[in-house]
Order: sequence, then structure tokens, then C-alpha cells
Amino acid sequence: MEFKKITDFIRDLFDGGDFIPLSVPVFAGNEKKYLNECIDTTFVSSVGKFVDRFEDDIAKYTGSKRAVVCVSGTNALHMSLMLAGVERSDEVLTQALTFIATCNALSYIGAEPIFIDVDRDTMGLSPTAVREWLEMNAEIKGNQCFNKNTHRRIKACVPMHTFGHPVHLDELIEVCNEYHIKLVEDAAESIGSLYKGKHTGTFGKIGALSFNGNKTITTGGGGMMLFNDEELGAYAKHITTQAKIPHRWEFRHDHIGYNYRMPNINAALGCAQLENIDTYIESKRQTAEAYKEFFKNVPDVEFFSEPTDCRSNYWLNAIILKDKDMQQDFLQFSNDNGVMTRPIWELMNRLPMFEHCQNDGLENTIYFADRVVNIPSSVRIK
Ligand SMILES: *Cc1c(COP(=O)(O)O)cnc(C)c1O
Repeated sequence: MEFKKITDFIRDLFDGGDFIPLSVPVFAGNEKKYLNECIDTTFVSSVGKFVDRFEDDIAKYTGSKRAVVCVSGTNALHMSLMLAGVERSDEVLTQALTFIATCNALSYIGAEPIFIDVDRDTMGLSPTAVREWLEMNAEIKGNQCFNKNTHRRIKACVPMHTFGHPVHLDELIEVCNEYHIKLVEDAAESIGSLYKGKHTGTFGKIGALSFNGNKTITTGGGGMMLFNDEELGAYAKHITTQAKIPHRWEFRHDHIGYNYRMPNINAALGCAQLENIDTYIESKRQTAEAYKEFFKNVPDVEFFSEPTDCRSNYWLNAIILKDKDMQQDFLQFSNDNGVMTRPIWELMNRLPMFEHCQNDGLENTIYFADRVVNIPSSVRIK
């Protein structure tokens, strides 16, 4: 295998240097200006014009009716699941091929994941596998879906758009509707990715975004919920701000609330980042195109391209090593030679907290886990 040819190509693509990181943020716009404005006006905390502006800007950008900020993508997911009606001891269909946050979020509620396989062309939750599993294991009673084996309610389905590649949403929506299952999208990695021209995160009842430091745009740390239902969006704002009834001086709260408010300084960063998102995604797509051309001539390595009908943000580029024995060797070689690479996450069903959970065999999931390596993907502008 021509490992050196690959790392040389990557180093050249990212203009040399001793170390090429996987994904680092770029601050090329109004970030400092907006941050200074927060400090100068003393509005650094959870109230301030950038919080409102960031919510409006994201709603406009994604085409959703309402967007509500959170302190992290993980708590955006936690709130999304709660607002979708997931309750203690419910079950939630999701991927084993995901970052831990997806499963942590549903665990906070006391729900349990059921791991369903992913598709080979999207690396995300497979509607066909979901349908097959439901046909075997689920029954509908009084407009609710129940697991015939555990007698628990299956309340929600959480697809994750892996590395920015949208799942087959039309088919997934169809099966979820048929079984009265609420769709909540983990769009943490896919801001700006389009499925048939429409933004990921806007197809389900709620969609969750992340603005962690390694994501396409960052607020340092942060997240956002996307709603098509304005009323639910307004309720989300209420519940994530300690459920305080607005009043000039009284402290009255009508529900157990959460302090999941994103501070104004983080939102300021977000507003500035969002102003440049088109340039960033364009740069990421050019990088992906360069990789795709290069890997055409590398035997036994496949570059993972966006699914048909989709425009992916290519948050993290991925290659598939045809021979799974190569994965460890390539990780070792590239990381030893200053090019940061990573395997895909340890599968959720292999972690101690979730190894007892149901799964459908996970054939494609295991195929990817054994072979995928993420390669440098930072935005290439200064
Ligand atoms: C980044 C990410 C999240 C959210 O993570 P935070 O660090 O809490 O913002 C959730 N799900 C997936 C799949 C992610 O990659």
C-alpha cells in the first residue's frame, strides 16, 4: 500500500507543515468585532442581541420556522427528544455508528436505544433496515408503536447524518409515519447539508445542530434546535431558560426548567461564523473533490462521496480501506508522519453502557467500523 503517497498528497493539499490536524476552526470574519462588542456593552451572558440574532439567522439559513440555541449539541438533542415526547423507559431507534452524544442524550431521559444498521451509500440510518426491524418486532396499539419483545413504547427515531452525508430521509419519514414514530434528526455534523435541496435538520419534528470547536462552524461550544412548529419552538425557549414566566421583576416558573442558554459571547462568534458558512462549505467541497480525484488512482481505497440527490457539507472526509487489516496500519503510519487521522467511533453497542441494548445485526455498521478512516478536512482559507 502506498501510505506515503497518501500522506504526501494530504500534506501538499493543506500547504505542508509538520502537522496537519483533522479539523480546526477558521476565524476569518467579524468574530473579534462581535466579541469586542459583547465586552464593550457588558452583554456577555445569556441575554443579548447576538443570541436572538443567531437564532433568527440560523432559522433563515436553514429554512426553519424557529431555531432555539443551547449550550451544546448534546443538550440540544436532550431537549429535542424530550420535546418530541420521549419518556422514561421508552425505546428509541438509532444508529450504533454515531458519536456518543446521540445515546447520552436519550439516556438522560431514561430511554434506551435500539441499534439499527446504516446504509452503505449514506453511512447513516437505513430506512430499509428500520422497516425490516419494525415488521419483525413492533406492533401498533392505539396509534402508538410497541416493541413486541419488551412491551416498551418505541417513541422516536434518531438518524444521524454521518460526517455531513444526509440519510434517505423520504423513505425514513414514510416508515416513521406509518409506525407513529417521531423523527428527531441528529444533524450535529450536517449544518448546510441538503437533501433534495432542503436543509438537514428540518425534516423531522425537531433537528439538533452542534457548534462544537471541530464542527463546520463553531461558537466554542453550542447547539441549536430547529423547529417547523413555531409553538413548540417557543415552548423550547421557555423550557431551556428555566421555564421562567417573563416578568420585569418576579421570579415565577411554571415547569422544571433547564439552564441550557447559550451565552451572548458564544452567539456572537456564531453570528460571525455563519456569515462565512457558504465559503467554508465551498472550501470543504473542493477538498472533497480533490480527494475524490486522487483516490481514484489509489488501489484498495475508496473515497466516500455524497449520496445521490444530496449536497453534503463534507464536514469530515472519510476513506474506506477495502482490506480491514489495513486500518490500524494506516492510522499508525499517518499519525506517526504528522497527518492526523482517526478511525470511526467505537460502535455504541460495544460500549459498556449500551452493550445490552437490542440491535439488528449491524452488518454495514461493522463493515464501516472496521474500514473507515477520517482524513484532514479543515476549511482551506486563512
Ligand atoms: C458533535 C456531535 C454532537 C453534539 O456534540 P456537542 O459537543 O455536545 O456539541 C451530537 N451528535 C453527533 C453525531 C456529533 O458529532
